[in-house]
Amino acid sequence: MVPPLPARLPPELLERFGHPTPGHAQSVILGGDTAFSDVHYREALVALSQRPQDHFALYVHVPFCHVRCLYCACNTTITHSEERVDQYLDALDHEMSLVTEIIGKRRVSDQLHVGGGTPNHLNEPQLARLMEIVERHFEIAETACTSVECNPRRTSAGQLDLLYGLGFRRISFGVQDLNADVQRAIGRVQSLDMVRDVFLTARDTGFESINLDLIYGLPFQTLAGFQHTLDQIVALSPDRIACFSYAHDPVSRPHQHAIRAEHLPSIAEKLQLFHQAVESFSAAGYRWVGTDVFARETDELTNAQKERRLYRNAIGYTPAPAKQVLAFGPSGIGEVGGVLVQNAPDLKTWERQLAQGLLPVGGGRRLTEQDRRRREAILYLMCNLELPASSAKGLEHEYESLCRNGGQGLLEVTNEGIRVTPEGRYLLHGLCVEQDASVDWGSTQWRAMVSP
Ligand code: SF4
Repeated sequence: MVPPLPARLPPELLERFGHPTPGHAQSVILGGDTAFSDVHYREALVALSQRPQDHFALYVHVPFCHVRCLYCACNTTITHSEERVDQYLDALDHEMSLVTEIIGKRRVSDQLHVGGGTPNHLNEPQLARLMEIVERHFEIAETACTSVECNPRRTSAGQLDLLYGLGFRRISFGVQDLNADVQRAIGRVQSLDMVRDVFLTARDTGFESINLDLIYGLPFQTLAGFQHTLDQIVALSPDRIACFSYAHDPVSRPHQHAIRAEHLPSIAEKLQLFHQAVESFSAAGYRWVGTDVFARETDELTNAQKERRLYRNAIGYTPAPAKQVLAFGPSGIGEVGGVLVQNAPDLKTWERQLAQGLLPVGGGRRLTEQDRRRREAILYLMCNLELPASSAKGLEHEYESLCRNGGQGLLEVTNEGIRVTPEGRYLLHGLCVEQDASVDWGSTQWRAMVSP
C-alpha cells in the first residue's frame, strides 16, 4: 500500500521535521570536534588489528568533477588536470599504506564503494590504477558488493567495459530531474536520450544492479514536470532508485547562491513531490526502503527490511551488518570499532597530513556506551520502521521524548514499542535527527552522523 501523504500536517510540524539534512551518507562535512586526532583513529585501527576476523566495508572518495552542479552538496574539486588526479592517487596509495601497516596487509573486505565527486572523471588508466591500489592493500571478497558512482555525462561504452572488468557489479548514475527548465536552473543539462543510452549500455555490459538518483525540491520542479521524469525513470526499469531531498544552504555552499530561493518549492510542495515519487514507484512494483530508496520486491534491501535486518552504515543502506567502514580520500567517513571518523575534507589539507605521515583525520568521535545505544536504536527505527520497547533500555528519556514528538500521527505507541505510521514515514528522518539534538554532540554535523 502506498503510504498516504499526511493530509493536514500542521505547518509547525512540517517546519520542524520537514527540512532536509544531507541525503547522501557521505555528503556530511565535519565542522567541529577537532580534539579528535590521528592518535585516536590510530588506536581504533590498532584494536581492529587485534580482531582479524572482523568484516568491514571500504569507501573511497574521489574528490573531482569536470564542472560544478549548482545544487551540489558533495565534497569535490573542479579540475581538468590529469596530473592533479595522479597526485591524488599517489596520496590515496599512501593513505592505504598507513592504514594497512596498522591493521595488516590484504585484510578481506566484503563491500567496496567508490563515490565522489565523480569517480568516472578519472581517465581509464587512472581508474585501473585506483583499483590496482585498492587490491594491493585489501583483498576484495569474491562475494563482495562492489559499486561505483558515475556521472552519465562522463560515461562511455569503453569506460563501462573497463569498470566491469575491474570488478564493479553495481553502478549508480545521477539523473536528478529530466525537465529542461530544472536542468538549466541546476546547471546540469543531460538529455533523456543520453541518460537512456548510458543506462542501456550499462545493462548490456552486464552490471547486476543499476541505481538512478533523483532529487526532489529543485528549482522549477512542478508536479506535472516531475511526473514526466518519474514516468521516464520507471520506463527504464532500474534496479534501485534513490530519491533525495534537495538541501538549500547557500551559506555553507556558496555556489548554491546561483539557485534563487523564490524558484524553490515550499516544504509542503516538496512533500507532495516526494509523495508522487512514492506513488509512481510503488505502482511500478518498487518498495520504499528506509527513508529515500526504492528497490524491487526481490532486491536484497527489500528482503532485509522485511526481515528486520536492514542497516545503514556510512556508505548507505546495506542488507549485511557491515557496521565497520574504512574510508579513504578527503572527507571520507568511516566507522571503526565504536569510533566515527571523518578525513580532512579539504584536498590539500588531506594531502599535507599524509605527507607528514599522519592519518588525515579532520574530526571524529569515540562513541560512549550511551551514544552507541542511541545510534543503534535510531538506525533500527529508520531502517525497520519500528522500535521494540525492549531496545529502549537505558534510553528511557530519549524513548519518552520520541513518543512525545511523534504524536500527531507520526508514530504509533503501544506497550510493545513504537511503530512509524504510514504518514510518519515522510517526516521520519527529521524526527530522528531532532532526537539527537537533545544531546550535546559538539556539532550539528555529528548529529547527522549519529542518526544518518
Ligand atoms: S557531479 Fe555530483 S559531486 Fe560533481 S558537482 Fe555535480 S553534484 Fe557535485
